[in-house]
Amino acid sequence: MLGKIEFYLKLFACKLNVFYPQLLGFGYLYYKNVHVKKNFKIYNSEDELLSVVNNAIINVPYYKNKYKTPIKSVKEFETTLDFIDKSEVMAHWDNFILPNTNPSKIITGTTGGTSGKPLKLVIPRNRYVFELGTMYTMWENVGWKGHIRAVLRNTKLNDKINVKINPLKREFIFDGFRTTDVYFEIIYNIMKKYGIKYLHAYPSSAYQFSVFLKRKNKDTSIFKAFICGSEALLPEQEYLIKKELGINIYTWYGHSEKLVLGGYCHGNQLIHVEPTYGYIELIDENGNHITEPNKKGEIVGTTLHNKYMPLIRYRTGDYAEYVADYCGDCNRYLTLIKNIEGRWDSNKIYLSDGSYTTITALNMHDDLYTHINGMQYIQYNKGELIIKLIKDESFSKEVEDKFIAFFNLMLGDNCSFQLQFVESIENEKNGKFLPLKQYVKL
Ligand SMILES: [Zn+2]
Repeated sequence: MLGKIEFYLKLFACKLNVFYPQLLGFGYLYYKNVHVKKNFKIYNSEDELLSVVNNAIINVPYYKNKYKTPIKSVKEFETTLDFIDKSEVMAHWDNFILPNTNPSKIITGTTGGTSGKPLKLVIPRNRYVFELGTMYTMWENVGWKGHIRAVLRNTKLNDKINVKINPLKREFIFDGFRTTDVYFEIIYNIMKKYGIKYLHAYPSSAYQFSVFLKRKNKDTSIFKAFICGSEALLPEQEYLIKKELGINIYTWYGHSEKLVLGGYCHGNQLIHVEPTYGYIELIDENGNHITEPNKKGEIVGTTLHNKYMPLIRYRTGDYAEYVADYCGDCNRYLTLIKNIEGRWDSNKIYLSDGSYTTITALNMHDDLYTHINGMQYIQYNKGELIIKLIKDESFSKEVEDKFIAFFNLMLGDNCSFQLQFVESIENEKNGKFLPLKQYVKL
């Protein structure tokens, strides 16, 4: 009974709270409504970049010891400053921190990921100003402007409750670890009953929910968009949600170091790197800038907002293809990239001759995706790959032959493979999905 009263009180507060996210304060409002808006079409970040870098050279020991004198231009930035990476920062961690920082101004975090030791990060406490100011502007591409959201991420709820309401952030939080039809039916009914049009989820959770929606032939016109981040959005996920179910989908690229953030626009599925958030460079193996369309390089980021632990020319370990520096659909001048290969995937598949391919390279034609309801690669030994598939009702012998032909063609003689048909594929303990479980020790 008490639980029910609490639910309705919170529901009432949630509906009343039409001011979110304006309540995030003046700093947030100024950043989003003045700074981002004013510089939306084109932004020259040179002054801001030089200010962050020179502050670091003057005050932060690592840069102070190395560079001595301030720089005057982006050209000088590119020719004078070396790239750094996670291991360099870990080796000199104390020297990357601004001395005499007031502890009330900062918080600490770590890089995520499944492999390697995490890097401890010092981040400004008011990070939400640029973080949410940018993110929420991005989400407006699918019409989200503070609407109530259903959230299906890494929350584990008490078994007795199906949903928890956070009236402050206008969230209906569901259990990201329950994947039964019974529970998905509950989510669907609650979203329908309360007119919740946006689902904010890990792509893998959105996909599992979507497989349910497809199997049960649910009316998906009740949804406005699925907002999917924190994992890479896989092609089979995008295909089911967008093409088969007709639900708009929004996704983005970002990382815990908070140097580069970008997402789709309303017109296309390219990653628009937000120029007010951070400074991006895409570099080839020799450290030169990539300006040629379709060429792949490493994403290098420089903070524009974190003076407490300034990461400058930081190699993220993530790769992407360069597209252009202008988008005709949204009429903005900014870096466009695609086909991101995130380190969170650890997405390399090792071949018997010592080379590798990636799961991104194994993207299939759309017509194959319609016949499966889930897929995962597993590798125990070089040159051998297990491909787990969950069959859709439409899966036939003919479809199976197509899958075999596809992998034969893509993997060639350097990798044997085996299709394994399974009923379900488990997420990891943290609620996330790994498209490739890589056990090969190098
Ligand atoms: Zn655009």
